[in-house]
Amino acid sequence: MGKSEAESIGCSHCGEESFLKREPVYDGFAKSGEKLSCAGCGHVFENEADVPFKGRGGPSVFTDADRSADVDVFAKDEKGQICRYCTNYVVNPFTQRCSLHFKVVDATDTCPNFEEKKED
Ligand SMILES: [Zn+2]
Repeated sequence: MGKSEAESIGCSHCGEESFLKREPVYDGFAKSGEKLSCAGCGHVFENEADVPFKGRGGPSVFTDADRSADVDVFAKDEKGQICRYCTNYVVNPFTQRCSLHFKVVDATDTCPNFEEKKED
């Protein structure tokens, strides 16, 4: 990924100042991740967050993969079962109503009978 400079770590396993070794991990033909290990003792770190990087406080700790995963989860939860996205949600000038339960609702209410509204 164009990273040529060594990444210094203070290894939590051997206790030495060492370098991070990155090796691609393949799932079939697709690269599924990276194996992160200590160049000194070979200790394998579970993930980027577990790597004891030295001398930097982190933009690279958050990978693009983490970021997009967060966004996806948020978007899904956000729509969830919220009335304003429901096909039964009816907006009048003075009230917002559920046409399924014939009651006044708030846009942020949630409902077990949620049915996602299709775009017009
Ligand atoms: Zn080590």
